Amino acid sequence: MGSSKPKSRSIPLLPLRGLLVYPSMVLHLDVGREKSVKALEQCMIDDHMILLCSQSEVNIEEPTQEDIYRVGTIAKIRQMLKLPNGTIRVLVEGVMRAKIEQYLPNEHFYEVLAHELQEGPTNDAELDALMRAVLSQFEHYINLSKKVTPETLAAVTDIDEPGRLADVITSHLSLKIKDKQEILETVKVRPRLMKLLDFLNNEREVLELERKINQRVKKQMEKTQKEYYLREQMKAIQKELGEKEGRAGEVEELRAQLEEAELPEKIYTKVVKEIDRLEKMPAASAEGAVIRTYVEWLLTLPWSKQTEDHLDLAEAERIMEEEHSGLDKPKERVLEYLAVQQLVKKLKGPILCLVGPPGVGKTSLARSIAKSLGREFVRISLGGVRDEAEIRGHRRTYVGAMPGRILQGMKNAGTINPVILLDEIDKMANDFRGDPSSALLEVLDPEQNSTFSDHYIELPYDLSHVMFVTTANVMHNIPRPLLDRMELLHIPGYTELEKYQIAERHLLPKQIRNHGLTADQLQIDDDALLKLIREYTRESGVRNLEQQLASICRKAAKAIVANPDATLFHVDVEKLKELLGPSKYRYGMAEAEDQIGTVTGLAWTEVGGDTLVIEVTIMPGSGKLTLTGQLGDVMKESAQAAFSYTRSRALQLGIDPLFHEKNDIHIHIPEGAIPKDGPSAGITMATALISALTDRKIAREVAMTGEITLRGRVLPIGGLKEKSLAAHRAGITTILIPKDNERDLRDVPESVKENVTFIPVAHMDEVLQVAFRDALDVRASRLGASEESLEAEESVLATVNAERDDLPPLGTH
Ligand code: ADP
Repeated sequence: MGSSKPKSRSIPLLPLRGLLVYPSMVLHLDVGREKSVKALEQCMIDDHMILLCSQSEVNIEEPTQEDIYRVGTIAKIRQMLKLPNGTIRVLVEGVMRAKIEQYLPNEHFYEVLAHELQEGPTNDAELDALMRAVLSQFEHYINLSKKVTPETLAAVTDIDEPGRLADVITSHLSLKIKDKQEILETVKVRPRLMKLLDFLNNEREVLELERKINQRVKKQMEKTQKEYYLREQMKAIQKELGEKEGRAGEVEELRAQLEEAELPEKIYTKVVKEIDRLEKMPAASAEGAVIRTYVEWLLTLPWSKQTEDHLDLAEAERIMEEEHSGLDKPKERVLEYLAVQQLVKKLKGPILCLVGPPGVGKTSLARSIAKSLGREFVRISLGGVRDEAEIRGHRRTYVGAMPGRILQGMKNAGTINPVILLDEIDKMANDFRGDPSSALLEVLDPEQNSTFSDHYIELPYDLSHVMFVTTANVMHNIPRPLLDRMELLHIPGYTELEKYQIAERHLLPKQIRNHGLTADQLQIDDDALLKLIREYTRESGVRNLEQQLASICRKAAKAIVANPDATLFHVDVEKLKELLGPSKYRYGMAEAEDQIGTVTGLAWTEVGGDTLVIEVTIMPGSGKLTLTGQLGDVMKESAQAAFSYTRSRALQLGIDPLFHEKNDIHIHIPEGAIPKDGPSAGITMATALISALTDRKIAREVAMTGEITLRGRVLPIGGLKEKSLAAHRAGITTILIPKDNERDLRDVPESVKENVTFIPVAHMDEVLQVAFRDALDVRASRLGASEESLEAEESVLATVNAERDDLPPLGTH
């Protein structure tokens, strides 16, 4: 092993407080404790050697043997200096590790028997690697810690003795005394380096953590400082620009508005509270914006402003006459309605609901009501509304929340008593995300609507002064509970003559005005106008007609501007074609000639009545029945019934009773709107089928509507008035209607009745007699017998009908 045997020697002991000396270290110590001074004096007498051992606890003044670590460093005293305060400063140089073997008896100072500790061999490759690792860790440590200077690293790197390296590095670390002592006590070099490596790692981690925390704290501080700085800067800029300081100006403005707004007590206090809240919000905060919008809503909604009603019936009548042609019945009903309102003084009756196809003047009638009452008019469209929130608003916690359509309408009205038109109440969607119709029910209910609650506004709003009018295209889509509150007023659609009058008296003058023209600049010939109605539009109302007239006016305006010399823009039939292109619809008979297998039926759709051509083709085959076109299930039922009837009557009709096995039958209904009155094409299909099977021609001026039983009885249908208008439009002169619908004829306009013959039929046989060109003559002979045969059939039909009970009811309109 080592060169010399370890020696033991007696030596004075100097206990160190809060520091530790390694061999080869040179440093100053200040010594003040009496015992220590005595020890120093003794060693100066001897060989200047002293043992330096650390105390485990720093603050023990008089350490006992137990308080002193047993391993220390033997050091040589290089210098000694008495300081004026009585303490002694010594310069010591560590020489080697030593361990106390025993304390020797001495009453003046500690004297011990110490035993020198040898390090052992110090050169192998692993030690080199360890040294390098220690050095690199130490480098990291230095980078992280501010306490050690980079020069230290340079000095340390020069040490080539591993044990010394460990000692010197340790002395630079800010370790606890206990840890430093551990290094001192580890005499063997390799474990000493390993231990040091551990400490370094530990220290590094701690330092890294420390640094992260520091950075975070720093960043936070920087951010607050930055914000503060920016805000101050903004204030300065605003001041430079002469603006009121941020929020303060805004709040001041709102307060001024509040004082002008004449709000009811409750609303006033609410607004004051909200403005106070707003004031405390930092400028440009999201919540501040929400409060601001809310306050603005409260300030702009009408809470008390009201127009005075003029309930003057004569005046109302005059306005309605002036603005509308025709519509005698609806006008009268409106006047009655207003009269009742006048009597009861409060508009709390049922809600008026105007039902009819588009463009028949529902909106403009409602507008006239508002005008004659001297009230504001607002239209709220309900088409496609499927969410309760659209009626009642979203809570303010939603981003971009707004009041519902009702209160938006009130804001537009600006008074608490407008006439509000709820348009297309039948078009509210039925997929219920929260039920819009129930919200609407609250709106329309006079018992509840004085405290209508909107999710956004959150304060009860009084709708009881509003006069609501609603519109719908069809009655049967109006939610039932709403329907119960309404008084229906049907507007069926216009005859050609009425359209002509409306165009001449209202639509054309209106469009001429709208386009900046005068009446003597544009002239449309009578026959051109009629052609426009007949061949360029096909509708129950006059919406398209109005659009076509607008289009003519645009062209007239353009021509007049382009050529100032031409004073008059004259539209005749020829010019019409030039302006609008070839006619879009064929006016006159649905078919130009009598046809086989093709029959004109009549349908009642959402947009009014319409003609519906049914075609049947027979081909040799194996008995397939094919249906194409827009056939709902309802239509299929009708087709089956028509087919069965034809089979049961084959012999009488002169048809091969096995026709259904030898032929394929194809029934086609060309594209068109879907009828809404349930099955009504039964007799039409049967007629077309029989015509195709018997090769007999159908009289082209005939149209028909009616459902059929298996036995050929004709069942009633809905929408006769609308259907007859459509037939008339299409140039039909004879309409077959179910006998049970005869009483509905009184609703059909006179002008239609003058031009169209209505033939009530009870049985399919009668249909055929009128429909077939060749049977028209034979008809008379059959009529007498038909009554009896019908009686007999009646009882059979009761049974047959029972089987059809699951079909939708007929003729309930
Ligand atoms: P709706 O509300 O039924 O869909 P509108 O009230 O919008 O129909 O009417 C469409 C256009 O036709 C409007 O310009 C309206 O003034 C006009 N109109 C409809 N019916 C008449 C009528 N009987 N007399 C005068 N103008 C009418």
